[in-house]
Amino acid sequence: MFDSTGAHNRTSHGVLQADSIDNSAPASKPFRPRPIFGIRFPMTDIQTSQIAQLPVIGEAAQQSYPTATLYIVATPIGNVTDISLRALQLLALADAVACEDTRNTGHLLTRFGINKPLIAAHQHNEREVADKLIHRLQQGERIALVSDAGTPGVSDPGARIVDAVRAAGMRVLPLPGASAAITALSASGLVNDQFYFVGFLPAKARQRETALQALVTIPAILVFYEAPHRIVDSVEALLAAFGPMRQIVFARELTKLFEEIHRCPLGEAAAWLRADVHREKGEFVVLVEGAVEAGDAADAEAERILQILLAECSLKQAASLAAQITGRKKNALYERALAIKGSE
Ligand code: SAM
Repeated sequence: MFDSTGAHNRTSHGVLQADSIDNSAPASKPFRPRPIFGIRFPMTDIQTSQIAQLPVIGEAAQQSYPTATLYIVATPIGNVTDISLRALQLLALADAVACEDTRNTGHLLTRFGINKPLIAAHQHNEREVADKLIHRLQQGERIALVSDAGTPGVSDPGARIVDAVRAAGMRVLPLPGASAAITALSASGLVNDQFYFVGFLPAKARQRETALQALVTIPAILVFYEAPHRIVDSVEALLAAFGPMRQIVFARELTKLFEEIHRCPLGEAAAWLRADVHREKGEFVVLVEGAVEAGDAADAEAERILQILLAECSLKQAASLAAQITGRKKNALYERALAIKGSE
């Protein structure tokens, strides 16, 4: 799950103890700020190898970590060194760590020399675990909640626990960090201030088609998570729903060795996936340009044709004729026609 093969190497400072962080000045040469146009940039002289010795690294130990609190801790989505300093400090302080998979989290904590009691908290036991956590929090404990990767509660267990803990009047503090959706958006180059997080589409074709039809007119960037064994089917479904013109971005294996970010028109997406067998493997975030921002002429045209036909024919006939005219899937057009009729 965790991969340290990215750009960063692990330092020898792997072991982190809550009470053993040294905040004293670094032993090596002090960094001398150099004035540039009268402004002092304290980092001007720094070498990358010296970053681990900066006094600010030790500041995580001086932050406030209240007791009787549930901490929602984001963990890396691939590259283990993407964990935050504050997350490490809190994990080292925590009385227990509630996690989606004790093996994965045990492995992650071991990388940082942290050994904590682990409590399994997955999608099938969130309610029961919440009661246990509330009891421990009432005793004054600090509990960390993590998922396998990224931010808990985002297409991951955690939301029900947070809901129950807050309802019990206990404190919940988030420690932000990686999330695959935000990471993908940041590097996509899609220009739109709005995004709509969809997460995983339904696995069954018909339900997926219905879900997609509900998104056709949304002007925001659409953000999907997808499993590798469904990526080809999903891309076909995206094409049927949104047409070939919109831009799609595949953000694959983010922060890992074989990271790939590829942008193309939806009409070329299946061919790109097929061009290399490795492309149907790994973890994917898929982004699709929004309807308005895309200026999606194909969508607009299909919609216009459907509207005209609906005024003259039955739903079925309108969908069938529109499919012949536009080359789009009849089912998708039928769903859209139903939605148009429903909103009249
Ligand atoms: N909570 C996580 C977050 O904040 O991003 C998401 C967990 S969800 C169960 C897992 C999905 O996130 C994967 O199927 C994939 O769609 C996406 N994902 C996670 N890590 C990824 C990565 N390194 N590269 C691309 N997508 C990733």
